[in-house]
Amino acid sequence: MLNQKDETIDLHFHSLYSDAEDSPEQIVESLSQINKNKHIAAAALTDHNSLKGQVEFQIALKNYNKTQPLEKHIQEGIFGVEVTLEYSGLPVHILAYSFPESNESSPLNRFSYFSHIDILLLRKINDGQRERYHQELVLAREQHPDLEKELISTQEVIEESGEYYYECSDGKKGFNHTHIASAIAKKTGQPRKTEMFERGGPFYLGPNDAQFKKIPMGEGLPILKQFSSEVILAHPKRIENIFTRPGVERLIRQFAVYITGIEVYASIHSQDDINYYNYLTDKFNFKTATAGSDYHGNGKKLCCFQNHTFLPNTLPCPKKLT
Ligand SMILES: [Zn+2]
Ligand SMILES: [Zn+2]
Repeated sequence: MLNQKDETIDLHFHSLYSDAEDSPEQIVESLSQINKNKHIAAAALTDHNSLKGQVEFQIALKNYNKTQPLEKHIQEGIFGVEVTLEYSGLPVHILAYSFPESNESSPLNRFSYFSHIDILLLRKINDGQRERYHQELVLAREQHPDLEKELISTQEVIEESGEYYYECSDGKKGFNHTHIASAIAKKTGQPRKTEMFERGGPFYLGPNDAQFKKIPMGEGLPILKQFSSEVILAHPKRIENIFTRPGVERLIRQFAVYITGIEVYASIHSQDDINYYNYLTDKFNFKTATAGSDYHGNGKKLCCFQNHTFLPNTLPCPKKLT
């Protein structure tokens, strides 16, 4: 079905359940606008280290599909997550999916199988993330020009995260930089978007400053492989910028038993990158190459929902959907 003209897929975007601006319902509304002109054959929400938005997203998709003729349906039941693992001290993003084709059971059964990774892996990653964002909050208090006299308490930031907190292995709540940014914005009267995006994501800590527990690829990938139908190296250009192309190739070779494909079509990839990652897909005999916008909201430049021409009309991927 993906070989028809004017069809596209987006298997990589984020919601308020991680560090983006839209609720799952709002994302489905954005998808429905695109779907008027260009059929989105498949879509997957892939929040950072969290499965909390999955059911909400599926329900919103189901409700939307009820209003559409069959040929305009967006495929339901693709569960996804973007997992942060560590390689050579640096974060590497891995997309894990559960596709409907992976087994015959109901979406609910499939989701409960997929969600094993939550306890086994995601909450452990979130322990480290919580530590990292605590460090950021401390730095934000010290360095933010408008916070000299007013202190933002940890509790204030947790309250700011509302229902969009993430869970750690001790069952306690974690917050991220968008929640810090929101709390700062509330206190200083600055617009939230400026704080969130113009400072470039995790705004006070560079990757080399951040001392917190990370889960290495060798530990995380086997868990993802066991409970997912696809384990995809996300936007490899990001690590290529650090490790170079031979370095990325070495990484893939080292973990090729766990990785099942590459996000060949990513919003940061040039045509040359797409060609290269297609070449690697063939070289490693991967059956899957995926496409994703990495949409985080209107405030972020990587918003391909408004500029999604990089998504090819015909995709070799995911091959299981053809
Ligand atoms: Zn990523
Ligand atoms: Zn992403």
